[in-house]
Amino acid sequence: MRDFAYARAGTAESAVRTLADPGTSVIAGGTELLNWFRLGIAAADNVVDIAGVDELRGIATDGDDLRIGALATLNEIGEHPLVTQAAGALASACLQAASAQIRNRATIGGNVLQRTRCPYFRAEEPLPWPCNKRDPGSGCTSLAGRHERQAIFGWTQDCVAVQPSDPAVALAMLDAQADVLGPAGPRTIPMREFHLTQREAADAGQPMRETRLEPGELITGYRLPASADGQAYVKVRERASYEYAIVSAAAAVRLDPVLPGACGAGRIAAARVALGSVAQRPWRLTLAEAELPGTPLTREALIPVIERAMADAAPLPQNGFKVMMARNAAVRALLTAGGAS
Ligand SMILES: Cc1cc2nc3c(=O)[nH]c(=O)nc-3n(C[C@H](O)[C@H](O)[C@H](O)COP(=O)(O)OP(=O)(O)OC[C@H]3O[C@@H](n4cnc5c(N)ncnc54)[C@H](O)[C@@H]3O)c2cc1C
Repeated sequence: MRDFAYARAGTAESAVRTLADPGTSVIAGGTELLNWFRLGIAAADNVVDIAGVDELRGIATDGDDLRIGALATLNEIGEHPLVTQAAGALASACLQAASAQIRNRATIGGNVLQRTRCPYFRAEEPLPWPCNKRDPGSGCTSLAGRHERQAIFGWTQDCVAVQPSDPAVALAMLDAQADVLGPAGPRTIPMREFHLTQREAADAGQPMRETRLEPGELITGYRLPASADGQAYVKVRERASYEYAIVSAAAAVRLDPVLPGACGAGRIAAARVALGSVAQRPWRLTLAEAELPGTPLTREALIPVIERAMADAAPLPQNGFKVMMARNAAVRALLTAGGAS
C-alpha cells in the first residue's frame, strides 16, 4: 500500500475542484478503490472522500422521475419502497449483488465504476503475466488462457473482459440517466451508453477506455423514468450469495389488456431486456425489443425472438455455454417480469 493524502469534501463542487488535480481519486464506500491500491491496479497521491456530501444522498421522486443519489448504498436502494415500486429490476439487482455487509457500504456511484473480475487483471503486483488493462501493449493473457467467464459480445484481441456490475444492467434496461458534474458543469450520460465495449473503445481510438465518464467528473446520481411495467432481474451464479454473475438479465414487460372471455397466454405490448456479464457493457437486446410486441408470453414463443437478437454473439473457445445461458436468463427474466413464472 502506498501512502496518499486524504481530504473530506463538503460539497460536490468542492470535490470536483479537488479532482482537477490528475493525481486525485474520489472515494465513496471504498470497497473497490482500496482493493485496487492494495493490488497495484491504481495509485493516487490524494484521495477525496465524498461520503459526507449530503447532496449526493437520498432516494426521491422528482416529477415523473425517480432520483437516486450516488451515495445511496445497494441495500438502501434494494429496500426502498419507491425503488421496489417503480424500478423492481434495480432493487432486485442491488439485493443480489455482493454480500449483506458489502451492500451496506457499497454505493451505486462506485458500483458502475467497478472494474472487471478477470483473474489476470486482478493479480497482485508485480503482475506475473501480460494484461493490456494493467500494462497497455503487453497483451491479453486471458485470450490464450482461461476465458470461460469472459465476453461473448464486443471483445477485441486486446481484451475479452466483462463489466460485472449487476445494478448497471438494470439501469441500462430502465433507460436511466447518470447525472454527472465536471469542470465544465453538469451533464447527463444515458446508462445504456455509459460503458464501452472494447470494440467501441478501439473504434474511438482509446482501446482501454471503459466508460464515457471523463477524468475529473463526479457522478451525482441517477434519474429513472417511472415505470408501471412488471420487472425482473435474473442472476445466474455459482452460489446463491456473495458471487458475481456468470450471466444475468434484466427485463420489463407490459402486457396487452386481456379481452373478456380470452384464454391462453397474454401477449406482450412492450418489453425491454438487457443482458449482463456478456460484454464490457450491459447488452440491450434491441432487436428483440422491436419484435416482442404481439408475442405470446410463453417460453416457446420467446426463445426464437431472443435467439435472433443474439445471433451476432461471438463466443470464445471456452465460453460458448454463455450464449445459451444468457438466452435462458433473458427468457426467464421476461416471463417473470410478465408474471408468467
Ligand atoms: C467481495 C465483493 C463482492 C462483490 N460482488 C458484487 C456483485 O455480486 N455484484 C455487483 O454488482 N458488485 C459487486 N461488488 C462490487 C461492489 O458493489 C462495488 O465495489 C461497490 O458498489 C463500489 O462502490 P464504493 O462506494 O465502495 O466505490 P469506491 O471503492 O469508493 O470507488 C470505486 C470507484 O468509483 C469511483 N467513484 C466512487 N463514487 C464515485 C462518484 N460518485 N463519482 C465518480 N466516481 C466515483 C472511485 O474513484 C473509484 O474509481 C462486490 C465487491 C466486493 C468487494
